[in-house]
Amino acid sequence: MRVNDSRNGPLLEALLRTYGGLYEEPVLIDELRLAKSLKWQSETVIKRLKEMDQQRVLSYKQRSDAPTATLLTPRADAQRMVLDPAALAQRKQRALDRMNAMIAFVDNNDECRSRRLIRYFGEEQSTDCGTCDVCQQRVAYKKSTISGASAAEPLGLSQEAAKAMRWEMDEGGV
Ligand SMILES: [Zn+2]
Repeated sequence: MRVNDSRNGPLLEALLRTYGGLYEEPVLIDELRLAKSLKWQSETVIKRLKEMDQQRVLSYKQRSDAPTATLLTPRADAQRMVLDPAALAQRKQRALDRMNAMIAFVDNNDECRSRRLIRYFGEEQSTDCGTCDVCQQRVAYKKSTISGASAAEPLGLSQEAAKAMRWEMDEGGV
């Protein structure tokens, strides 16, 4: 192709002449420099490289402006890795604590979610938000009692009713 293809041959020739190790491993190339040496537009170089990538003549990955990281030290060998059991145990415990807090948050049906969330982050919220599902259910329960619905099953669900009554008792106690 390098010899017979008048379209992409010169680009292949320039690539091979400029970047020695191309056959062995991926190499960072400078499309602009290639374009200059070929007296082509850099867009043409990129287009042709993409073409040849599709034809599987070569593998071309266009550079991107997205942030990338380059590891400056070789990756640690798994066999020689030094692990700190105490630090790992601590990390595991923190992960478990976070998971349990999340489960408790989801399971909770008694306390305003906003209030509970804020407490999780170490602060106190003095009033209930009034808009979360827990607060909304309390409002629904109050309305149902005012309208004279059955006290035993204010929401039509005995389980929900039991919870709602517990809220009422809690509120009364405060
Ligand atoms: Zn709420």
